[in-house]
Amino acid sequence: MTRPDATRVGELASTLQSAQERLRAACVAADRPADDVDLLVVTKFFPASDVLALVDLGCRAFGESREPEAGRKAAEVRDAVDATLSFHMIGQIQTKKAKTVGRWADRVHSVDTIRLADALDDAATKALDSHDRSAPLDVLLQINLDGAPDRGGVGVDDLGALAAHVDTLSAVRLRGLMVIAPQEGTAEQWMARAAEIRASFLAGHPDATEFSAGMSGDLEEAVAHGSTCVRVGTAIMGSRPIVSP
Ligand SMILES: *Cc1c(COP(=O)(O)O)cnc(C)c1O
Repeated sequence: MTRPDATRVGELASTLQSAQERLRAACVAADRPADDVDLLVVTKFFPASDVLALVDLGCRAFGESREPEAGRKAAEVRDAVDATLSFHMIGQIQTKKAKTVGRWADRVHSVDTIRLADALDDAATKALDSHDRSAPLDVLLQINLDGAPDRGGVGVDDLGALAAHVDTLSAVRLRGLMVIAPQEGTAEQWMARAAEIRASFLAGHPDATEFSAGMSGDLEEAVAHGSTCVRVGTAIMGSRPIVSP
């Protein structure tokens, strides 16, 4: 498969380096070791050729949010370079699309209902049986911080029941939590709130230590409040194209 032209490769090298420096600085400011926080490059809407350029630049894990675009891109890139590259599903998933996501995703950040958890478990079970995957599917539970329905996420009151259910499943593994800070208010405020919720969640699920929080606009606040994975799109890839529905 082709790489992008030299201009695009240069652009990605430079924006990636800036994002890595920002993340390092955020870790220093939060008095945390630099390797505490993973940088997940969000490549949704961008072509597989860009992902290849990022692999050349040392990236190993990518976030995607739209199925079937995501599954196709993961397969294309893995076939072209390396089957062990990691692809994470970070966007909302319709239950009927869980079947394919359960085949290609190493991790799903956006589990927010029992129905979706069951569908992913089912898909991952079948994929394990058919050797389309070799390990259980790692999942994070997405918390809805402000009750707005459009961003997805489970309400704080229902988090315990969802986690207890996911614990009973065999082909998905509960690894932690994910949040998206709402627009209103400040990132600082929302990340502080998320960290509180996470602290009480961790008391009951001490092994589910992953915390996917922070994007291009608020990675510093997220790192200050315990993020273990920032999901960075725009700051590295540039503006996403506007697509018609
Ligand atoms: C698109 C997306 C991101 C990346 O957002 P940027 O602001 O472009 O960095 C992070 N998380 C989720 C869930 C997304 O859908």
